[in-house]
Amino acid sequence: MTSQTCDEVLLAIEAQAVCRDRVDRDNLLAVLASGDDDLLDVIAAAGRVRRKFFGRRVKLNDLVNMKSGMCPENCGYCSQRLASSAEILKYSWIDTDEAAQHAQCAINAGAKRICLVAAGRGPADRDLERVAETVAAIKDSAPAAQVCVCLGLLKRGQAERLGQAGADAYDHNLNTSAEDYAQICSTHTFDDRTATVTAAKTAGLSPYSGAVVGMGEFDADIVDVALALRELQPDSVPVNFLIPFQGTPLGEHWELTPQRCLRILAMFRFAFPNVEVRIAGGREIHLRTLQPLALHPANSMVLGDYLTSQGQSGDADRAIVADAGFVIEGLDEPNPADRAPRPSPGAPMRRWHHHPRQYLNRR
Ligand code: SF4
Repeated sequence: MTSQTCDEVLLAIEAQAVCRDRVDRDNLLAVLASGDDDLLDVIAAAGRVRRKFFGRRVKLNDLVNMKSGMCPENCGYCSQRLASSAEILKYSWIDTDEAAQHAQCAINAGAKRICLVAAGRGPADRDLERVAETVAAIKDSAPAAQVCVCLGLLKRGQAERLGQAGADAYDHNLNTSAEDYAQICSTHTFDDRTATVTAAKTAGLSPYSGAVVGMGEFDADIVDVALALRELQPDSVPVNFLIPFQGTPLGEHWELTPQRCLRILAMFRFAFPNVEVRIAGGREIHLRTLQPLALHPANSMVLGDYLTSQGQSGDADRAIVADAGFVIEGLDEPNPADRAPRPSPGAPMRRWHHHPRQYLNRR
């Protein structure tokens, strides 16, 4: 958008978003195409939309990497693919106690949601049982904590089993547009991914699905993945900024700037005015000193350790939240009424304890 029309376009977008009307594709594209001179206006407009639905609350999330590396899939952005020579820790399943102890540490540090993640195309049924046991252990110790699971493509009945174990949500990103998908992965399709998000939702799990940006995509791809996500009605939309791992096909992709990251987050806020927009992997290296500004469009962030790379410390994250004038959302605080979580299928629980750590961004 040009400077002359920026104010008008932003006013129109903001007016639509606060009413939860669908902001159209052209206007979302205009947000991404806006110039640096308009950046603060874009952030201010996105911030007003965010405050309308989420106030100044920031939800903190933590990842527990239950199985790392050696994945047979070939997602080009991922350090965990079998063909990757990136220097990451690779290990098979950690046990339930270790995962649960890590989760408890994160909850004690302010995390409201724990995401149990495992590399792979999708879980075998015996793997699913291991994760179900971990979910139950976390819920037994911290019933108010939200537990999300991220295991790749799901087969029939697996989402239901996770729901029975007490899982609240399933995390499965679309990553990029349908048109661009084959550029980043050839071992599964965009439709495979949407099918898993749909299966999770049908089973009563809260769908959590977002994107990875900075992979050489066009603005249209980012907007189109946002629109595809909007059709799936996720309850949470994580935005990952590519961490270019040496040893992966995208290891040289350093194309993001802090300003572009902020525009992307603002675009997601306008596309999802009353839905959790989460700052996920790569924020430290791409937003850099502008991280506090990202809390104006986004209302949620992943604590600083990702799946196979370490971010900044939890203390530094909490300082950013406080210094920027936001407050950490408590375990007992409900979502806004119009974003109430789906009822959990509930499940028998059991007891456990504990922790590990070494992570990266997305699956
Ligand atoms: S993103 Fe997931 S499915 Fe793709 S290579 Fe990495 S671990 Fe495997």
